[in-house]
Amino acid sequence: MGPRVVCDAEKPHVVCVPFPAQGHINPMLKVAKLLHHRGFHVTFVNTVYNHNRLLRSRGPNALGRVPSFRFEAIPDGLPETDVDATQDIPALCESTMKNFLAPFKELIRRINTREDVPPVSSIVSDGAMGFTLDVAEEFGVPLVLFWTTSGCGFMAYLHFYLFIEKGLCPVKDESCLTKEHLDTVIDWIPSMKNLKLKDIPSFIRTTNPNDIMLNFIVRETCRTKRASAVILNTFDDLEHDVIKSMQSILPPVYPIGPLHLLVNREIEEDSEIGRMGSNLWKEETQCLNWLDTKSRNSVVYVNFGSITKMTVTQLEEFAWGLAATGKEFLWVMRPDLVAGEEAVIPAEFLVETEDRRMLASWCPQEKVLSHPAIGGYLTHCGWNSTLESLSCGVPMVCWPFFAEQQTNCKFSCDEWEVGIEIGGDVKREEVEAVVRELMDGEKGKKMREKAEEWRRLAEKATEHPCGSSVVNLETIVSKVLLGKN
Ligand code: UDP
Repeated sequence: MGPRVVCDAEKPHVVCVPFPAQGHINPMLKVAKLLHHRGFHVTFVNTVYNHNRLLRSRGPNALGRVPSFRFEAIPDGLPETDVDATQDIPALCESTMKNFLAPFKELIRRINTREDVPPVSSIVSDGAMGFTLDVAEEFGVPLVLFWTTSGCGFMAYLHFYLFIEKGLCPVKDESCLTKEHLDTVIDWIPSMKNLKLKDIPSFIRTTNPNDIMLNFIVRETCRTKRASAVILNTFDDLEHDVIKSMQSILPPVYPIGPLHLLVNREIEEDSEIGRMGSNLWKEETQCLNWLDTKSRNSVVYVNFGSITKMTVTQLEEFAWGLAATGKEFLWVMRPDLVAGEEAVIPAEFLVETEDRRMLASWCPQEKVLSHPAIGGYLTHCGWNSTLESLSCGVPMVCWPFFAEQQTNCKFSCDEWEVGIEIGGDVKREEVEAVVRELMDGEKGKKMREKAEEWRRLAEKATEHPCGSSVVNLETIVSKVLLGKN
């Protein structure tokens, strides 16, 4: 007897719901592809705003034409705009708590009345989209929460309530946010050593007891306990201790990363599913041709992700610091990188560096980081970027901006030994010195060797059939999403 052909109506049906920001949509689309590859019918739910941005950045075929992989959109409750820019994160967080539940419930109800798709059998939702828990409970389906942060960042978030209980947050007024306060030793988060308050996600530095982000994090981490399981885009060798420690306070936690390595192994880049992408800005691929002309480890890659906003002065300090290194560099500057205005680069800097730089506004980052010409990465320490860099063996200069980037920076520098931190109040002399160290110094060499070790371990975690992340993904699928024992 030949293999049984599963027709679409019999497939398990997973609904994937990312938080509506670039650094969340990217890893969720990867999870969705991996589940589709394992036989699931997939519904991927964006906000209307991001859905339209995807269509604009990637063209009308952006979302593929696979009947068993569909995209849906729900409104985000924010004022309408067709400007391609990062939305206000606190406003989005607040809106997820108020405005998403009703349209999401209605969407699931509508899907379940259709005859051409199987009924919804499970939900994989971003950890910061806790309203999905209410819907999963109402429809009686398992729900996996995907926290797209690092394990260490998530562990710090899980203890935010204790910072409040201990009186460390909120502080009375701005004048209390001194160096002394930020240097307060935090030695009571299980499995996290040698931390100071400055290494804790930035939302802790508030004077307002009603601060949206502070309250949002406390609420959402607390709700995580109601999930059937939790997944993280990390791997056991990298964050063994924190993952083990959070297992005792949460539903089962499964590290299943680095997701981009799993996807690269399992899904043909040139297939209909492989071509589906999630970049909200149009990718400029010429930088790859430029990198092809450069020698190994010679180029500094500079990119601050999708949310970071800097001042004109900070931009100028980075620019002149980079210029002074004499190194070749690829600098990706989003149009909305500078707070309140278009990124304006000093004209003299453009002239002085003309023959050794490439500028772009958005790039295919995974391809850039795996290009042999890249020797180091000046980063904002977003978790996806950090993990992508580590698993390509690329050492970093760390300039954390907000959220758990502070924690990622601390772990990159001190635990994983692949980063050097640069002061928040960036100065051109420091940029020059740390970039030189990164590219040519003794410490830079050690960091590159260490990053290479992490690259190998990341490869091992995603190897079939026994890599730890592969085994975890199979367990999540069979035990939680399909409910088999
Ligand atoms: N990214 C990209 N091209 C760019 C900049 C970023 O493809 O020019 C991707 C990057 O690979 C990562 C995501 O956007 O997957 C950014 O997420 P991250 O967590 O690093 O930072 P965030 O944007 O959330 O601050």
